[in-house]
Amino acid sequence: MENFKPVNSLESPRFCGVKTFMRLPYVPDISGKQVDFVIVGAPFDTGSTFRVGARFGPEHIRSTSVLWRPYNNVQGINIFDYLSGVDYGDVPVVPGFIEESYQKIADTMYTITKAGAIPIILGGDHSISLANLRGIYKQHGEVCLIHFDAHVDTMDSYFGKLYNHGTPFRRATEERIIDPKCSIQIGVRGSAYGPEDWEASEKMGFTVIPTHVAKEMSADDLVEKIKQTVGDRKVFFTFDIDFVDPAYAPGTGTPEAGGFSSYETLKILQKLTGLNVVGYDLVEVLPAYDHPAEITSFLASAIIFEFITAIALNKRDGR
Ligand code: MN
Ligand code: MN
Repeated sequence: MENFKPVNSLESPRFCGVKTFMRLPYVPDISGKQVDFVIVGAPFDTGSTFRVGARFGPEHIRSTSVLWRPYNNVQGINIFDYLSGVDYGDVPVVPGFIEESYQKIADTMYTITKAGAIPIILGGDHSISLANLRGIYKQHGEVCLIHFDAHVDTMDSYFGKLYNHGTPFRRATEERIIDPKCSIQIGVRGSAYGPEDWEASEKMGFTVIPTHVAKEMSADDLVEKIKQTVGDRKVFFTFDIDFVDPAYAPGTGTPEAGGFSSYETLKILQKLTGLNVVGYDLVEVLPAYDHPAEITSFLASAIIFEFITAIALNKRDGR
């Protein structure tokens, strides 16, 4: 069967052609095809409580991702020696209507995972993760969560509403589609409405490592803690770009000063391999604030490159 891989940028310049993630083929139907991972956009941002505009995140990340070459120098692997991957396009969400959008996103994630592929979802604000998890649950059952974020996103409600980007992991816990006992939140910082905001996550069973603790740990110790928490169970990996300091990732909806650098972030991800991750999302990239020089988008595509590399390493190592 045909293996899907990027256009060769030694043959055609990377600024040519229609923009897909990493210049992968656009394949919106993967049934009956050999596909290990798909990049799929969920351009929904009306779950945001502050700045909006993350609906343009997927196209923005695709645009800078054309720079990526297939070989990962740190890991010593050519991704496409082991993987077939496509750009699946975007879920046709319904702007302003979260429950209708959730249904479409969840259906898409079920279709992708049922076909045997690992979805890597580009947000969108963080509200989309509940829909991602619902779709994945239908195929894989309950999963553990690795959650990189400056916020816990386990609030009960905002403005009296249950569904928005501050609540997805409380809802996911209530719906029993994630198991908080094997789930971990890293990078929380900034102000809260009270101590109960962070404590709520711990009471639900999550392991919470705030930024001021995580920054004092070595990358090896932090990665070891994550691995101990999730073990060999199935994992959904959700990455809110505001985990990274706004000096490195200004293009986001709810920035919090005092975060991780780009280098620290990538170093952690390069060590965080060998896990049974069945889906990834990267959310809250907001292009209208991504000045100067689109640095948030370049970082976002670098993070996804590490996600794809981790999938390739698993395949190479027979996991
Ligand atoms: Mn978030
Ligand atoms: Mn956040």
